[in-house]
Amino acid sequence: GSLLTAHGLRKTYGPTTALDGAAFSIHPGEVVAVMGPSGSGKSTLLHCLAGIVRPDEGTITYDGRELTALRDAELSALRRSEFGFVFQFGQLVPELTCVENVALPLRLNGAKRKEAEATARTWMERLEVDDVTAKRPGEVSGGQGQRVAVARALATSPRVIFADEPTGALDSLNGERVMELLTEAARSANAAVVLVTHETRVAAYSDREIVVRDGRSRDMERVV
Ligand code: ADP
Ligand code: ADP
Repeated sequence: GSLLTAHGLRKTYGPTTALDGAAFSIHPGEVVAVMGPSGSGKSTLLHCLAGIVRPDEGTITYDGRELTALRDAELSALRRSEFGFVFQFGQLVPELTCVENVALPLRLNGAKRKEAEATARTWMERLEVDDVTAKRPGEVSGGQGQRVAVARALATSPRVIFADEPTGALDSLNGERVMELLTEAARSANAAVVLVTHETRVAAYSDREIVVRDGRSRDMERVV
């Protein structure tokens, strides 16, 4: 069955309708690209699915639980244990080394420092950034920083990775490498990926596309 489903999502910001009846579903381990023009509601949809933004109307069900019925504390606990996040930029803590950044969510979930950093190193090897463990985010390239962010998102073994324009700040070569490693690592961990992008080259790494237009979503079968 479905891992994450949403129906009839509506969200307005003052006079702006960001979501107008959007629907979504993803199966365990599936990689879904959410596409559409700028301002169409992609990020709002992702934030609702991830429990960061509450929709005004509609329901979201994750693994049999209705997210929209959970309290804030329950939602953030669920986010911390079940979800991983990768954003366009700025998500690494500049004062921490890269390995400390990757270990951080594990530490927040109660792991001891040594254990957390050992797990972090394993993920950094998989993402081919184990050479920058001791560097701070300001000392690594954009491509390396995004791969560190992906390692951090995967470190807690989440069941869903939410990625909002994860390659938006990278050139196409680095972008494709990040997508290759992100989808490879997610597939081997059986984590589903909700990927927001407006680039078809990035969406090509998905199993399925959902197109958002004016706050409404449409499920596309990939035409091969
Ligand atoms: P996309 O990710 O497709 O670019 P967004 O979900 O970011 O679209 O935005 C959809 C619409 O909602 C846009 O018109 C945007 O300006 C508006 N919007 C999104 N977030 C906010 C917010 N926090 N406050 C006000 N308007 C917002
Ligand atoms: P990538 O292919 O991952 O983008 P690059 O070939 O651009 O990596 O970078 C190679 C090396 O140069 C990295 O090990 C990194 O330490 C250093 N480097 C690249 N960009 C920056 C930057 N903006 N600030 C500091 N160091 C950088």
